[in-house]
Amino acid sequence: MCGEKILAIDEEISIDWNHLNVIDAAGKLVFPGFVDSLVHITGGGGEGGFDTRTPEVNVTDLTKAGVTTLVAALGTDSISRSLPNLLAKAKELNGFGLSCYVYSGSYHLPIKTITESLQSDIMLIQECIGVGEIAIADHRGSQPSYRQLATVAADARVGGMLSGKSGIVSIHTGPSCECLGLLREVVEKTSIPITQFYPTHINRSQKLLDDGIDFTKKGGYIDLTTSSSPSSFEFGEIKCSKALKYFLENDGDITRISFSSDGHASLPEFDSKGQLKSIDIGLESSLFEEVRDAIIEEELDIALALKVITSTPADILKLPTKGRLKVGFDADIVILDRTNLSVETVISRGNIVLENSEPTVKGRFE
Ligand code: ZN
Repeated sequence: MCGEKILAIDEEISIDWNHLNVIDAAGKLVFPGFVDSLVHITGGGGEGGFDTRTPEVNVTDLTKAGVTTLVAALGTDSISRSLPNLLAKAKELNGFGLSCYVYSGSYHLPIKTITESLQSDIMLIQECIGVGEIAIADHRGSQPSYRQLATVAADARVGGMLSGKSGIVSIHTGPSCECLGLLREVVEKTSIPITQFYPTHINRSQKLLDDGIDFTKKGGYIDLTTSSSPSSFEFGEIKCSKALKYFLENDGDITRISFSSDGHASLPEFDSKGQLKSIDIGLESSLFEEVRDAIIEEELDIALALKVITSTPADILKLPTKGRLKVGFDADIVILDRTNLSVETVISRGNIVLENSEPTVKGRFE
C-alpha cells in the first residue's frame, strides 16, 4: 500500500523493505474492508417518544466491526434529525479515514434535500450518492403512489448520470402485504430500470424474501438487514445467514444480494394493532457476524459469502475503488484470525484504524 491505494499484490515484491511499515499477516485471513450500505450515523427513529431516540455512531463502532465504507441515511425522523447534520457527521467520519457517503431524503415524500433539489444534491455534494431510505409498504411512510416514487427515482437517476454516481434509490421495505409491488409498478409503467432501486429489510418475512428473490430474477437488487432485536425472529424475521443460504439454494445470483447493518437505527416492534411493544438499537458489528454465521453455521464458501458485504454492495453503489483487493483500489483491508474469524486489524484508506482488535483511531470525545 502507498498513500490510500493498493500498489502491488504479488508473491515477491522487490522493494527496499527498510523504509516500509510491514504488517505480517501470515496465517491470517485478509479481506477487503467491509461495505455497509445503510447506517443511521446520526441515530434513526425513536418511535417510542423522545426517550427512545437512538444516539450518534462513534467511529470505533464502525472500525471494530471492520466497516471502512458506509452509506448514511436519515429514517423515520426527518424533523429533529436533518440532512445538514447527517452530512456534517459523514465529514467527521471521513476525517477519521473512513469512506462515508450519504443518501439525500428520508422515509418521506416530498423529498427533503440540502440544496434546492435532489438532482443537485447528488450532482454537487461529493458525499451524496443517492436517495433514501424511502419507506414503502409501511405505516410510517408517506404511502407514495407509483408516480411520486417514479419522479424521485428519475431525479436521482439524472443526478447520478450527470455526476458519474449511482443515484441509487434506497427503499425501506415495511411489513405490509404489498411487499415490493410498488417498485414493480414503477418499473412496468415507466422506463426507469429496476436496478435504480435498492430495497432493504428483505429478510423481514418469508413472504418478502420470496418476493425479493423474484425481484432479483427480474434483474433487481435486494439487501438484507443484519441487526435484529431478540423478539424479531418470533415475528417471522429470517436470520441473514439462513436467508442467504435459502437465496442461493433457490438459484439466487450472489451479485444481486447484499447485507447492511441498519446500525444505530431504532428497532421497534409493533403488535397486530400497530402499538409499540418494544424498541432496540441496530449494531454495525452484526454485519460481519451474519457473514461469519453464514460461513461457519451454514457452511457457505468464504469467498462467496463475503461478497454480500464487499464487492456486491460496492458494485450496486457504483463505488469503483471499493470492495475488492486489487491493485489501484483503495487500501481498505480487514485482517482476521483464521480460527474464530475475529477482526484483528483494520486499515482504511491506508491508515491503520484497528490493531490487535483495539482502535488506534478514536473520536475526539470517545
Ligand atoms: Zn429502514
